[in-house]
Amino acid sequence: MNNIAVLYDAGQAVLSTFDLDEVLQRILEIARDYFHLRNVAIGLLDKKAQQLYIRSQIGWDEGQDRIRLALGQGITGAAALKKQPVYAPDVSEDPRYVCAAKSTRSELAIPLMVRDEVVGVLDCQSDHVDHFDPQTIDLLMLFSTHASIALQNARLYSLEQQRARQLQAINAIAQQTTAVLELEDLLARVCELIQSAFRVSHVSLFLREDRDLVLRAHHGTLTPRIPQGGRFPANTEPWATILAGNGGATETDMRGASAKFFDESAARICIPLVSFGQTLGILALDSALPDAFRDGDLQSLESVADICATAIQNAHYVERVKQLAYLDGLTGIFNRRHFEMRILEEIERARRYNTAMAIIMADIDHFKRLNDEFGHVLGDEVLRQVSSLFNKQVRRIDVVCRYGGEEFCILLTQANSEHAVSIAEKLRKMVAGWQFPGVPCTVTISAGVAAFPQHGTTRDQLVKAADAALYAAKQAGRNQVCLGREAHSQAAGS
Ligand code: GH3
Ligand code: MG
Ligand code: MG
Repeated sequence: MNNIAVLYDAGQAVLSTFDLDEVLQRILEIARDYFHLRNVAIGLLDKKAQQLYIRSQIGWDEGQDRIRLALGQGITGAAALKKQPVYAPDVSEDPRYVCAAKSTRSELAIPLMVRDEVVGVLDCQSDHVDHFDPQTIDLLMLFSTHASIALQNARLYSLEQQRARQLQAINAIAQQTTAVLELEDLLARVCELIQSAFRVSHVSLFLREDRDLVLRAHHGTLTPRIPQGGRFPANTEPWATILAGNGGATETDMRGASAKFFDESAARICIPLVSFGQTLGILALDSALPDAFRDGDLQSLESVADICATAIQNAHYVERVKQLAYLDGLTGIFNRRHFEMRILEEIERARRYNTAMAIIMADIDHFKRLNDEFGHVLGDEVLRQVSSLFNKQVRRIDVVCRYGGEEFCILLTQANSEHAVSIAEKLRKMVAGWQFPGVPCTVTISAGVAAFPQHGTTRDQLVKAADAALYAAKQAGRNQVCLGREAHSQAAGS
């Protein structure tokens, strides 16, 4: 009678809900109470790692449920390997025994089978030596089939649910990303959407920059090991393989992984972001649960990654178009609009940190004559070459702009007037001595220099002072550099 009752209850438990955790917990409680057990657990097989990990347990000592057993290891591992129940009537005599609770005296492990495949193990432990008689073992074997069915049902059900949810998510991500054109916003939004749709602990996006991968956005509950904006070489493993376009990779056992983004990560999926054959970066999903990912996740995520890659590519284009608005079409250097915006920022910075900054206005001498004599095409070429010479001569932090026509404006950060004059001199000498390929005459420039704060404290004052100095250089015979007049003497003179 008791036997039928236990099987009936277990059957009812299986049918009561599709929530796997609830079903397993219920089954374990029934087993413990009917069979007077000290502790019971269900371990599941991590196929890839060929290890058992504890999915549900009652009565185990603190922390013991985190151990993983290889197939064949411990009483449970032995049962999984043999596909047969393994009984240790006295654990102290059994060399295979791995302790889960100090009071355990006997242990019985029964493999959970779906068709002929082991999916896990029902592990029963008692405080009494030789607690399990053959009849009890038979009954527990029957009982264990309910656990197998529960596992199978819950898996099928949640797989269905998960597919439906993921399809919805893919749809939502596609819809929502097309509307976001700012790259930063887009990346943050994508991480949020994926994290909620795939119910993982953390989602991160790494984009390629030169030879590095840069963490551009992330969202979730884990503690990142690198900060946003942090970078690491893209040619290290496993990234190199993923970026090489060999598809995504699922890692289910992260305990030993060296290239971890999060301490708590137990499983991870990494997928390359590919658009038009170009790998833009990596989408990474991390979970604190070892069994978070299933077959089919990778496939769904690859669709998501494709959508993301296209959206990122679009945002890149938008950024590029925006940049183009600040570039000069002929020479490729910055234009006057950019100069006027940047000089305000630099003046503000110099004011706030009490540092120096300066500008150089440079103008090609007798350019009209050059145009008239050799034609506009050659004139254009000279403009391009002068731009490139200027760009090569200044520091990376300095900004070379085409101010208009054959006039250039160079913004020097953290440079005082002497420094600026010496740079202007260097540019002047450079141009005067340069043999311009295809240009049959000497080209020279004149330049005017103005520095903050001595020649002005606003954009207009500085530009005016540099322009006046340039005019003075022209007046003095061209091919030379003049420094602006001090702001106070200007004021005194006017
Ligand atoms: P100065 O030494 O006093 O500066 O004499 P200049 O001839 O250089 O100055 P001016 O302002 O008289 O002439 C500038 C010339 O630059 C006139 C214009 O045709 C030419 N120019 C302006 N923009 C372009 C351009 O984009 N391409 C070419 N080829 N020429 C240009
Ligand atoms: Mg000129
Ligand atoms: Mg001019």
